Amino acid sequence: MIREIRNIVALLRGRLNMWIIPLMIAAGVLSSLAEGVGITLFIPLLQNVHGNAHIDTGSRVIDFLANLFDAIPREHRVVTICALIFAAILTRAVLLYANEILYGWVGARVNHRLRSDIFRQLCAVSFRFIERNQSGELLNALSTESWRACEAVAMLIYFVISICTLMIYTTLLLLISWKMTLVVAVAMFVISRITRVIARRSKIIGEKITRANAALSDRMVEGFYGMKLIHSFGHEAHEQRRFDYASREVSGLFFKQGVTQGAINPIYEICAGTLLVAIMFNALHDPAQLSALLVFIFVLYRLQPRIQAVDGARTGLGALSTSVNEVRTLLDPAGKPFVVSGNRPYGALNNAIRFENITFRYDEPDKPALRNVSLSIPAGKTTALVGPSGAGKSTLINLIFRFYDPSSGEIFLDDQPLRSFQLDAWRSRIALVSQDVHMFNTTVRDNIAYGRLDATHDEIVAAAKLADAHEFIIQLPNGYDTAVGDRGVRLSGGQKQRITLARAIVRNPEILILDEATNALDSISEHLIQEALDMLSKDRTVIVIAHRLSTVEQADHIIVLEEGRVAEEGDLDRLLKNEGLFARLYKLQNRGALV
Ligand code: ATP
Repeated sequence: MIREIRNIVALLRGRLNMWIIPLMIAAGVLSSLAEGVGITLFIPLLQNVHGNAHIDTGSRVIDFLANLFDAIPREHRVVTICALIFAAILTRAVLLYANEILYGWVGARVNHRLRSDIFRQLCAVSFRFIERNQSGELLNALSTESWRACEAVAMLIYFVISICTLMIYTTLLLLISWKMTLVVAVAMFVISRITRVIARRSKIIGEKITRANAALSDRMVEGFYGMKLIHSFGHEAHEQRRFDYASREVSGLFFKQGVTQGAINPIYEICAGTLLVAIMFNALHDPAQLSALLVFIFVLYRLQPRIQAVDGARTGLGALSTSVNEVRTLLDPAGKPFVVSGNRPYGALNNAIRFENITFRYDEPDKPALRNVSLSIPAGKTTALVGPSGAGKSTLINLIFRFYDPSSGEIFLDDQPLRSFQLDAWRSRIALVSQDVHMFNTTVRDNIAYGRLDATHDEIVAAAKLADAHEFIIQLPNGYDTAVGDRGVRLSGGQKQRITLARAIVRNPEILILDEATNALDSISEHLIQEALDMLSKDRTVIVIAHRLSTVEQADHIIVLEEGRVAEEGDLDRLLKNEGLFARLYKLQNRGALV
């Protein structure tokens, strides 16, 4: 329990003004105190309604309470006590409402902060981490687990308030009759032992729920993104079965948890009911203390839900602890790979991007994707990266962007290590048009403006014209304001590629990287775009990856990669003369084209 509370407090640190928690606890405790006062006032009220004169039961507390209003004239006494009871009820109601508002505020704030911090962490952490974790798991942490962790916070506050209330009521009971309180305490101890067993079981189910939720999120993500594939292979029934299995697991576990936690109430009802009957029976035998006993029973009646709440919160906190841990682990930077930004401001590239003895593995046991690579990409020129599939071309680009850092060796911008530059400043000068076309579910205009968020309409149109996208965009139902749908489903592959090209153009980057940027285009579009790219490439550092070797003929410098190594480099003439890998591939493709 202590560990769970510590975890929740650690989760809140820095995300919530901690003063609000004592405030909420104080409001909760004061509302209980108001109720306690209200209930206690029933002793003199009953005594005076019965019309008894001065009371002497032998119990100092009860006699004090019963005779508390003796100084007030008899005809005003009942009205005064009623007014005080009403004031207590009113105070409690106001404090309860204030607490509800505070609960709502804390809930909304913590929920937002957790979600936002998880998202920030996912944006900051290296790609390695995202790749190692299943997207369903991360999505589940971002949505369900953050919400459940927030529920744990509310439950903890409620738990503390309930404990304080319990203490107030127990004091009241002790003052009325310590003997009966002792009997009640023993009964409650027995009940709490039983609920502890339930709490343990509930915690185990809670852990299973977290895992099952993550698996279900995985199925959702894969279902959404793979829907076309599912349809095309006719695997709807297979996917439905897999989804239903994951969904049934979650429902079944929630049901199990409901059944487990639901047992607490009936157990209480039975024990508390038996206790009440026993006390009432006792009261009937001692009419002198009737009013005090009635108040005792009433306090006990009000106490019961509080004890239930404490046990319920204990069980709930156990069940939610997995979610709290999940969110804490995700937010904890320890053990996660981060790409650390340097401090040097980035100005401009004057000479070259240089790779010096770069070796890179995506994961430790994997074979290297790049092995001892040394090469130079000259500034203001077009460099082509060619080579068979899996040779390491995209990996090289990933390292230039610093999506990953090399396992060994160093990349230099002119003579300074790339790591020493401010990451944001460096990335802001590069634009990538890759083979993975990503569209946001918004308008064509916003998709292009993503390249530079403050781009004007004229700049967007100019970029679209250069990317040969303007013609088809103005024919869309709402032109530039047409929504492209989820991941651009309303556009063809070639149209999406042209929009991503326009996005890169509007950025006006110093370094333009084209990774198979024209592979989804027909030959007319490709020709048009190639002309635009040739124009854009003037006085700009351009890196082109293309399988179609005809598209790299214009490059100033060609680097041929094979199995993570530089096989050869030079201009077209030199490589053809070399009669190496490039010449073989080139001849093979040209023969294919002629056929
Ligand atoms: P293609 O022309 O097919 O795009 P490429 O030359 O760009 O290929 P890379 O994508 O750089 O090749 O891949 C180089 C090697 O690294 C391959 O063996 C590939 O399996 C591996 N690889 C690529 N991305 C990852 C990744 N995210 N995690 C682990 N291994 C990877």
